Amino acid sequence: MDSDYARRLLDEEKARLEQVHTGFDDEHLTDESERESFAELSGNDQHPADIGTETFEREKDMSILENVEAELADIEHALERLNDGTYGVCEACGRLIDDERLEAMPATRLCLQDQTAAERQARAFG
Ligand SMILES: [Zn+2]
Repeated sequence: MDSDYARRLLDEEKARLEQVHTGFDDEHLTDESERESFAELSGNDQHPADIGTETFEREKDMSILENVEAELADIEHALERLNDGTYGVCEACGRLIDDERLEAMPATRLCLQDQTAAERQARAFG
């Protein structure tokens, strides 16, 4: 994998994720004002179903946001590895990761074999 090309892939992915992240921040602001108006109304009619839905939506948003942040952290990590020349090397076995895989997932830390093994292990331990 050519490092200039890898950097471009990572930059593009980073820009995309930051856009998603910014979108969520805007939505988050809307949520806050909705919650305030909801608090004002709470003295009158109670709508438990609405509260449940809103909580669920917020939790869903939070887990997506956490994923985005984790992916951004992986990209930062990959950019650091580009700088010190270890980009594209599997962190588990030290072999080169396939170009095809890097192209699809530029921020990946593991080769396909180790990724599969890690996922199998994660499932086994729940
Ligand atoms: Zn490996």
